[in-house]
Amino acid sequence: MDYVIPAPEQVSIAIVGESKRFPVRRIFCVGRNYVAHIREMGGDERDPPFYFCKPTDAIVPTGGSIDYPPQTRNFHYEMELVAAIGKGGANISEANALDHVYGYATGLDMTRRDVQIAHREKGRPWDMGKGFDQSAPCGDIHPVSDVGHFPEGNLWLKVNGETKQDSDLKLMIWNLQETIANLSGLVSLAPGDLIYTGTPDGVGPVVSGDKMHGHIDGLSDIEISVR
Ligand code: MN
Repeated sequence: MDYVIPAPEQVSIAIVGESKRFPVRRIFCVGRNYVAHIREMGGDERDPPFYFCKPTDAIVPTGGSIDYPPQTRNFHYEMELVAAIGKGGANISEANALDHVYGYATGLDMTRRDVQIAHREKGRPWDMGKGFDQSAPCGDIHPVSDVGHFPEGNLWLKVNGETKQDSDLKLMIWNLQETIANLSGLVSLAPGDLIYTGTPDGVGPVVSGDKMHGHIDGLSDIEISVR
């Protein structure tokens, strides 16, 4: 195929124990999926799940660094479990939902908190608070065939060695089966889609020079520094 401008490169993520890579199609993120985080952000705990998206080329591999983004004075980390969809579908049932997952990774939903809140208060989209350059660091993917699924497990995030987030995946309001069933009723999921499953409480700011280190039991850690 000939294009009039350079075609974008396929964004992809390394897979643990596999030389082939995972091609990323879309990035869906779940909003407000842990009660303690809703309480710290001031939201309605009875809300059904909702979603926002990030551009695919916002992915940054673990071990890398990200630039402090423009037009924010409150740049936040959100440590999250990421599910990588291997098999697509619409209206997927909760009972079959996990069959659609290829693997899991640790991820960071980086957020311009001041921009997100300002737009939220005006009823505007969250895109510029959430979906900016380098806003989706993601660790290496572990296939389900190696590590199984993650209904529970400790996740934590340290900044410069100090623990900032420390929670458990079992505290998700909407588990992954419910999320996949709900999201696939809104859009057809496809192989290559990623789902960032939401952050627990303890979110906060980073500044240039900070080093973030995130962990989920059973997965490779994610390490990202801020330039
Ligand atoms: Mn998030």
